[in-house]
Amino acid sequence: MLNWFSDMRKKVSATVVIHLCFYISAFIAWPIMAEMELFEQFYEFSRDHEDWDIDEFSLLVVNLTIALILSSLFQSSRLRKLVRQRDFQRQRAEQNARHDPLTGLMNRRAFGDLLQETVKTVTAEQPIFIAMLDLDRFKPVNDIHGHAAGDAIIRKVAQRLTVEIGTIAQVGRLGGDEFAIIFEPGTTVTQVERSARRLIHAIEQPFHFNKTPIYISGSVGLMTWGEDISVTEALRRADKSLYAAKDGGRARFAWYDAELDQKSHERAQLEIELTKAIANNEIQAWFQPIINIETEDLIGFEVLARWTHETRGEVSPSTFIEIAEDSGQIGDLGLSILRQACRAAADWDPKLTISFNVSPLQFHDPNLVEQIKGILDECRFDARRLTIEVTESSIIRDFDIARAKLDALKALGVAVALDDFGTGYSSLASLRQLPFDRIKIDRSFVTNIAAEPQNQKIVAGIMALATGLELDVTAEGIETNDDLAYLQDLSCSLGQGFLFERAVPENHVHWLIDSKWSDWPLDAKRANELQQAEIKAAS
Ligand code: GH3
Ligand code: MG
Repeated sequence: MLNWFSDMRKKVSATVVIHLCFYISAFIAWPIMAEMELFEQFYEFSRDHEDWDIDEFSLLVVNLTIALILSSLFQSSRLRKLVRQRDFQRQRAEQNARHDPLTGLMNRRAFGDLLQETVKTVTAEQPIFIAMLDLDRFKPVNDIHGHAAGDAIIRKVAQRLTVEIGTIAQVGRLGGDEFAIIFEPGTTVTQVERSARRLIHAIEQPFHFNKTPIYISGSVGLMTWGEDISVTEALRRADKSLYAAKDGGRARFAWYDAELDQKSHERAQLEIELTKAIANNEIQAWFQPIINIETEDLIGFEVLARWTHETRGEVSPSTFIEIAEDSGQIGDLGLSILRQACRAAADWDPKLTISFNVSPLQFHDPNLVEQIKGILDECRFDARRLTIEVTESSIIRDFDIARAKLDALKALGVAVALDDFGTGYSSLASLRQLPFDRIKIDRSFVTNIAAEPQNQKIVAGIMALATGLELDVTAEGIETNDDLAYLQDLSCSLGQGFLFERAVPENHVHWLIDSKWSDWPLDAKRANELQQAEIKAAS
């Protein structure tokens, strides 16, 4: 396109030059010809040769010359008009390429170029400040009031921002509902913060669309650019601070925090490693014993996910499970753990059960029941030996869906337990309406129960309820003999906790099977090490 423009320009210039040459040479030739009396000589010559019709021929030449002049004048005016039109179109194309068509503000590209220019002046002593502003929960505004209202608000926001920042900054629209602001060099932190507050306030004023007032808010991320970093990095940091402002509750501003950024960088790194670890089965199923409190027999295990990272060591389950949930990998992780557990437990005494935790996200996966059935079939594991544990947060969203899912699980032959009982809000309703076989009393009521009268009352209440509804009860978090004795007195049927054993890897489970817990080595891991040492010594 640009080549076309320059070719056109060249053509016009060449035409004009050629014409000028003609005119100039005509003006130069005119006095010379006059001096030489060429016209008189020509006249004489044509008179002498009347029969040649030179005068008629000359008339034709004169006519042709006039026609040529007029035509070239017309051509050059047409070409000039064409060039003017093309110039206008080019300007418009450039304008569109650098400006946001909805608001007329600089677009991302132009804003990036401006930053690129400004970066040259940045020093640690004279930093510049960037603000990133994003409207809060703007999508529902479109959904409720329509896209036209959304567009009108974005336009109006752009105007308000431009007015508010005045001359101390320049604003661009990066896309969607996101705007960026670069403050003029020399602006102080106080001015930047005051501006941020005013921008937030300006956006909070109602917008009127079709006479309906619409209320929105905006969050602002601020960053100081004093180091030698790229434009992309500067924008990334501003974006990070914006999301810190959103996480902080929205309708506020937040400064870029390098430490927080480092943490989220590590988290992103961990997310990548988690994906690989799940695919390679590096996250293992470990087993924590569940004891019949009355007989002290081992009745089964709760399956827990454990990740021993090759360089990071033990990664806390709360850390990686949260990442797995946030990144949508919890389903894969859960199924990998369940498959490992079923494979391992298939060879154990068939009296032993396993309890498997299903996270709220996984519980709402429409394929969950099919997937569990697939694993049971694949591992030839008796469904009656499996208990699925769900938390209250899995079921409160929609009781009907939850009931259908729990019924489907029970139809497989699986038992279902309500985990962390007592910590939710609608426990009674859950128990009454849903087909649970067992409840697990949350550890916060169990640990140290012997010394906590409040917890004693709560647990006694839960026990009475469970007895009335004919539910098994597991107390988790038993850590001392006193707590165990207290729960035995309450006729709590099952228990687990550090008093018995922590979760152990599959190859330590045989230490625990076929014996009373009181006979177990205190720490199966340590016992295993001792055994290894004995084997070594013997060889
Ligand atoms: P958050 O508080 O997390 O920013 O929530 P949000 O709903 O504002 O979500 P987000 O910023 O991620 O998405 C911006 C939404 O703004 C998406 C889209 O519905 C809307 N949007 C983006 N561009 C336009 C536009 O040009 N016109 C209109 N009407 N709406 C837009
Ligand atoms: Mg938004």
